[in-house]
Amino acid sequence: MENTDVFQDAFMRLSDLGEQLKISPEVLDLLKQPNLLLKASLPVRMDDGSTQYFDAFRCQYNNTLGPYKGGIRYHPQVNEQEVKALSLWMTIKCALVGIPFGGGKGGICVNPKQLSRMELERLSRAYMKSMADILGPKRDIPAPDVYTNALIMGWMQDEFESIKREKSSAVITGKPIILEGIQGREQATGRGAFICIERYIKQKQLNAKELTFAIQGFGNAGYNIAKLLQDSGYKIVAVSDSHGGIYSSQGLDIDLIWETKQKSKQLQSVYCGCSVCETKGYKKITNQELLALNVDVLVPAALENVITKNNADEVAASIILEVANGPVSHEAETLLHERGVVIIPDVLANSGGVIVSYFEWMQNLSGGSWEMDEVNSKLSKYITQCIDILLEKSQTRTLRTYAYEIALQRIQEAVFAQGSKAYFRGY
Ligand code: NAD
Repeated sequence: MENTDVFQDAFMRLSDLGEQLKISPEVLDLLKQPNLLLKASLPVRMDDGSTQYFDAFRCQYNNTLGPYKGGIRYHPQVNEQEVKALSLWMTIKCALVGIPFGGGKGGICVNPKQLSRMELERLSRAYMKSMADILGPKRDIPAPDVYTNALIMGWMQDEFESIKREKSSAVITGKPIILEGIQGREQATGRGAFICIERYIKQKQLNAKELTFAIQGFGNAGYNIAKLLQDSGYKIVAVSDSHGGIYSSQGLDIDLIWETKQKSKQLQSVYCGCSVCETKGYKKITNQELLALNVDVLVPAALENVITKNNADEVAASIILEVANGPVSHEAETLLHERGVVIIPDVLANSGGVIVSYFEWMQNLSGGSWEMDEVNSKLSKYITQCIDILLEKSQTRTLRTYAYEIALQRIQEAVFAQGSKAYFRGY
């Protein structure tokens, strides 16, 4: 991840597209900064009796269309600008796919792999304790993101319910099924991205058997799309994680790589100790080399800003499927578009996660329980509708431009519907 100001980049993209699309300045002004950014220092009692402090954030970007919604990330590079950017993208994403949420995001600046399981639980509970006042089923609903998962969501839900002295499963999504989580949430981000690329291949009449894929990031989102691609007969020639990557022109065995990675799960099943690189029989490559591979579809599924103006010309793929949030910078996208590279944008490609989170939230509020088939078929409907609309447009503009057009127009319509401010300004 390149060390640029990711929020600045996200905002430049928003304001360039907003102006191009003739979105009212009032709406663009509203989206210039988050509604609220809470920063806390979390004291955590470590196993050796000492206390360590961790910087933590929750950013509530915009709630015009519904309660704030967005994941919580644990990573050493988490900072204010990153959670602002991530929550801005959540605002656009929820508006684009038409679910009644605004955008939020949170994170803790920590290397969670260095903590014991009890330290990790205490840290997660400390996060919820400091943020509980601004969270809630109708206010702001977190979910998992990088290096957080169902287990951590379960601890946070329990902490929230202890603070509020009432059951409140709809406060968080992506939680364990037994705590009223939903079937299919773990696979949802990968599944949504898989549906996007299948629709694209069908619409462009590409020869599926000949396509090659490279996937950066082999966690929740990266593994699940890899698995679905492999099970449908696609050839994945490279995958990577934070340690590096592996390559085979004959195609990789995704199940074998997953098993290798699971072998030494540290912290009693919280994080994998092994890397994809430990799978025997494949050539080792770096993450930079993976991004430059001569494949048809490049799938960044790890962190933001991995393709910037500095390496955009090295990208050889003709399609980029943005499973991660913000993997391609605004400037890089312009360069890639000029070269005819098609980007299926993050706000759609990884929206499967938040769409199924929406189903989970509805399930919790209504007290029901959804079957896996129902979840998957409804998810498919949301994604298919959305990508088909984008693909129907003439491709003189980027798919992201059309995606932002739909999202910003929905937010604009709601802003104007909410009151008379627009009347006085002549819109
Ligand atoms: P995860 O923690 O499950 O997996 C992250 C993966 O990225 C791991 O394999 C890790 O080793 C790898 N990684 C970390 N740093 C890396 C680096 N510098 N280079 C290469 N690989 C690196 O996280 P996730 O939930 O799969 O999230 C991945 C991306 O997908 C993030 O951008 C996240 O915001 C986005 N996303 C996730 C969801 C979801 O439901 N989990 C939903 C929407 C978007």
